[in-house]
Amino acid sequence: MRLVLLGPPGSGKGTQAARLKDYLGVPHISTGDLLRAEVAAGTPLGLQAREVMARGDLVSDEILLGMLKDRFSRDDTRPGFILDGYPRNLAQAAALGELLASLGQKFDAAVQLAVDNEKIIERLAGRAKAEGRADDSPESVRHRLNVYDQQTAPVIAFYREQGQLSVVDGVGSLDEVFGRILEAIGR
Ligand code: ADP
Repeated sequence: MRLVLLGPPGSGKGTQAARLKDYLGVPHISTGDLLRAEVAAGTPLGLQAREVMARGDLVSDEILLGMLKDRFSRDDTRPGFILDGYPRNLAQAAALGELLASLGQKFDAAVQLAVDNEKIIERLAGRAKAEGRADDSPESVRHRLNVYDQQTAPVIAFYREQGQLSVVDGVGSLDEVFGRILEAIGR
């Protein structure tokens, strides 16, 4: 199963992806986690990405594509994957299509976790307290939501036009949302 999870920051992509990974037995590829690992390791890429992420802006398409190619070159992605955090703009959606085509793969479904802005702000405020992520400050959250509306929402429209999109209500208990995703992907 090759799955792309879409939805605003705080929509629960990471949480659901972790469950889906166990259920489907395919790796969870989170571009946010990959970037945070680079930052934590203090690599040149991490040093470049750190400020951009703290502001809530998008790291360059070039860096992301390089990281993704690298990740997809590993054998564990052959049976499938759950992609979380990518694509975040139309250029990335095109790049993903090309990358998968070059690997002779196609994704099975793009699933959007729908959660309204008010709920998102509430959840991210909670996460800021619990996890202390540098980009969960109020300014950064506001900025990430703007970036999402301007750059990532068009990706959702793009997959909808391609007939590849399933929309799942992301509000409810973890189990409820998980059940809805499984239903959407026919599992
Ligand atoms: P969230 O979706 O909750 O904002 P993520 O962990 O997915 O969190 O991403 C955190 C940050 O990492 C983003 O705000 C952005 O700076 C960077 N990032 C992650 N994925 C991408 C991507 N596909 N393109 C550009 N930047 C990205």
